[in-house]
Amino acid sequence: MRLDVPTLFLMTVAVTFVVGVLYLLSWSQTRRERALAIWGFAHIAGSGASCMLGLRGVIPDPVSIGIGNAVIIAAYGLIWSGVRAFEGRRPLLGWALAGSALWIAACFVPALYASMPARVILASTLAGIYCALGAWTIWGGRAEPLISRYPALVLLGTYAAIYWVRIPLALAFPPPSVSAFPDSPWLAILCFVGTLYSVAIAFVLMALTKERAEREQRQAAETDALTGIANRRAFVTRAKACLAARPAALLLLDLDHFKAINDRYGHSVGDAVLTAFCHAAAPMLPRNAVFGRLGGEEFACLLPETGPVLAARFAESVRDSVGRIAHPDYPDLRVGVSVGIAVGEAGSDLDDLLRRADGALYGAKHNGRDQVKVEATPARKAVLAA
Ligand code: GH3
Ligand code: MG
Ligand code: MG
Repeated sequence: MRLDVPTLFLMTVAVTFVVGVLYLLSWSQTRRERALAIWGFAHIAGSGASCMLGLRGVIPDPVSIGIGNAVIIAAYGLIWSGVRAFEGRRPLLGWALAGSALWIAACFVPALYASMPARVILASTLAGIYCALGAWTIWGGRAEPLISRYPALVLLGTYAAIYWVRIPLALAFPPPSVSAFPDSPWLAILCFVGTLYSVAIAFVLMALTKERAEREQRQAAETDALTGIANRRAFVTRAKACLAARPAALLLLDLDHFKAINDRYGHSVGDAVLTAFCHAAAPMLPRNAVFGRLGGEEFACLLPETGPVLAARFAESVRDSVGRIAHPDYPDLRVGVSVGIAVGEAGSDLDDLLRRADGALYGAKHNGRDQVKVEATPARKAVLAA
C-alpha cells in the first residue's frame, strides 16, 4: 500500500477541523467547561496549520513555513492552556501564544530562517515544551480520579518526547532545505502518525470532560444538597455493601425538638443547624464510618467492626460535640441529639438493623432526649421481662 502525502495532509486538515468544530459544539451546549472551547480553537488552528504546511511549494514559503509553524505552535500552546482551564487554573493565554510569537520573531533573523535544522530545532523545542507542560498539568490534577487522565498524560508526554527526539536527529542528519515536500515514505508515515495522534488526543481530552461530567452527576445524585453528606439512597447502598461483609453498629441520630428550633428561629437557622450538626458529628466518627442523612433531622451512621460499647462512645462524643453548636446571632440556641444504637453480624439485614436502632432511639427520646441508648440485647430483654 502506498501512503500518499498530500492525501494524508488533506485527511489531517479535515479530521482536525471537524474535531475542533465538535469541541465548540460540545462547549456551546453547557458553556461550563471552558477547556472545550479552548481545545476547539486549538484543533481548528491545528487544521489551518496543517493546511499551510501541506501546501509547501504551492503557497509562498513565508506563509507555509513562517505562519504555518507559528499556528501549529499556537495550537499546542492552546492545548496546554485548555488543560490548565480543565484543571481549574488560569488558562494563561498570553503564555500559550508566546511560543508562536517567539517563532515569528526568529523567522525575521535571516540566518535562522535560512537554516532548516535551526528551524526544526526551534519549532520542535517550542511544540515539545507545550506538550510537556500539558502532560505535567494533567499529572498535577491527579487528585481528581479520572481514568482518561492517564492516556492523555501518555499521549502528550509521548508527543513532547517525539518533538524533542527530532532535535538531535536534525543536528545529526540535517534535513535538506527544499521548497516542496519530497515524496518520502518516512514523511508519509509521519503524516499518518500525526493524523492518528490528532484523533487520539481529541478523543482522550473529550473523554476527560465526559468522565468529569458523569462523576459530578453521580456525586450530585448521591449527595444531600443541604449538608453535603451522603443522602438516604447513597447511605443505604454503601451501608448494605459494608454490612454484607462485616459486622457493624448502626447509630440512628435525631435532633431534639428541631421543629421548635424552626418555629422559634426560622427555617434558615434550622438549615444552618442541620449543616452545623454534620460539621460537628463527622470529625467524631472513624474514617471508615458510613454517614448519611436519612431525611429531615434524622441521620444514620454505620460503624464497621464496632461493638456496642465503642459505638456508644462514638455516639457520646458526637452528642457532646453537637451540644457545643452555637449561633452568633442566637446565643440562647441549644442543640441536642438523641441516638439509638443497634449492632448486627456480617450479612445482617439493614432494614432490620434500622428498625432496631429506631427502637433504641425511641427509648432515648422517651427517657428525656439528648442521650445515647443502645438496644437491649436478647439476654437483657429476658431479664427485663422477668
Ligand atoms: P423530637 O425531639 O421528638 O425529634 O422532635 P422534633 O421536633 O425534632 O421532630 P419532628 O418530627 O416533630 O419535627 C421535625 C422537623 O424538622 C419538622 C420539619 O419541618 C423539620 N425539617 C425537616 N427537614 C428540614 C430541613 O431540611 N430544614 C429545616 N429547617 N427543617 C426541616
Ligand atoms: Mg427530632
Ligand atoms: Mg425525626
